[in-house]
Amino acid sequence: MKVTADYDFLIVGAGLFGAVFAHEATKNNKKCLVIDKRNHLGGNTFCENIHGINVHTYGAHIFHTNDKTIWDYVNSFVPFNRYTNSPLANFEGKLYNLPFNMNTFYQLWGTKNPEEAKEILNKQTSAYKNSKPTNLEEQALSLVGEDIYHKLIKGYTEKQWGRKATLLPPFIIKRLPLRFTFDNNYFNDTYQGIPIGGYNKLTEGLLKNVKCLTNVDFFKDRSELSRLAKQVVFTGKIDEYFNYEHGKLEYRSLTFEHEAMEMPNFQGNAVVNYTEASIPFTRIIEHKHFEYGTQKNTVITKEYPLEASSQNEPFYPINDLKNTQRYNLYKEMTKSESTIFGGRLAEYKYYDMHQVIGAALSKTRKLFSSQLALK
Ligand code: FAD
Ligand code: UDP
Repeated sequence: MKVTADYDFLIVGAGLFGAVFAHEATKNNKKCLVIDKRNHLGGNTFCENIHGINVHTYGAHIFHTNDKTIWDYVNSFVPFNRYTNSPLANFEGKLYNLPFNMNTFYQLWGTKNPEEAKEILNKQTSAYKNSKPTNLEEQALSLVGEDIYHKLIKGYTEKQWGRKATLLPPFIIKRLPLRFTFDNNYFNDTYQGIPIGGYNKLTEGLLKNVKCLTNVDFFKDRSELSRLAKQVVFTGKIDEYFNYEHGKLEYRSLTFEHEAMEMPNFQGNAVVNYTEASIPFTRIIEHKHFEYGTQKNTVITKEYPLEASSQNEPFYPINDLKNTQRYNLYKEMTKSESTIFGGRLAEYKYYDMHQVIGAALSKTRKLFSSQLALK
């Protein structure tokens, strides 16, 4: 007897990749079932409301993109405010502006114009300019020199990643802009903001007409769940999908210490980084500032980095040489699978939100336009 599948797609993971995929598939008249092992939807963008404040449960999430299509797409589900991320760095009790800009150079060296700042930077970087950087330390020293590296990068980076900066890939530090204007905007992108009313509104919009089940772990009932649909879309850990056949991929995790406080304003900014190695957390987030909150209380979160294990969440892929080689073996295995793999964990990629949305849209566009062409 032929068993027919109830759904076109079983989507494992209700984060942005899964939610965008489900939304687009539903629009194309496909029947989707989304499952997530957590007790909520939205993946790492999930927010909890505490004292009227949207608390970013899994760490600060600021949306930014240069792509108008993606900006219009997210704004079609919920309007975004124009929050501009301007984190501060606290090093040994002194505050510095981020990203590295004329304000930072003034705070470090008293330089008042780009020429003065460039002169110091050139002196500090010239020794490192000759060869192509092979690791994060070399990349940072060749871009910003000794002072910035030792005060604002080395300590933060080594506690965030739990590895020497010499063992990390150069691209990680290139996420941060370096500019010679008095501009504390952390991102260079044209569009930036936070959904008004929180990220859950984006998830609700995306998954409005989709059947979703929480507290369901794909691996607890893999074959039964897979039988429910014609095809699986998998957004969890790729190494787990293949039963760790080529060994475990390493991920970095965080523990979050949330604290509600009876005061209106704890630190005057949404994000303050603590860049020295001896302080165990990397940053303190004060959530109300993302939405210009005027509540009489506040909620802060300290982020403590640690290695991912079965006891905590895998947040950051560690794209060093060893893990990249291992990931490539898994990627090869995906070629003989009918499952679709997408998102930060399944592609083992340090994706930001707009990139995950872009990847899901591109995947669904290809999939459904080729099906239309076949009709
Ligand atoms: P996820 O959101 O991780 O969703 C995957 C889902 O799959 C999870 O809900 C998980 O529970 C579920 N799952 C996994 N395995 C199973 C299973 N076996 N069965 C069922 N369900 C399963 N991006 C930005 O653009 N700006 C930022 O400021 C920013 N800040 C960040 C801060 C932190 C601390 C972190 C960790 C990430 C940040 N990001 C930021 C990145 C952003 O979170 C990701 O790009 C995006 O959320 C990834 O979406 P995803 O769907 O790939 O994964
Ligand atoms: N970084 C740093 N000092 C800072 C902020 C960031 O050295 O004050 C480095 C660190 O290696 C970090 C990387 O830059 O992992 C990328 O920073 P980003 O803010 O993009 O990290 P995320 O928000 O993804 O955790």
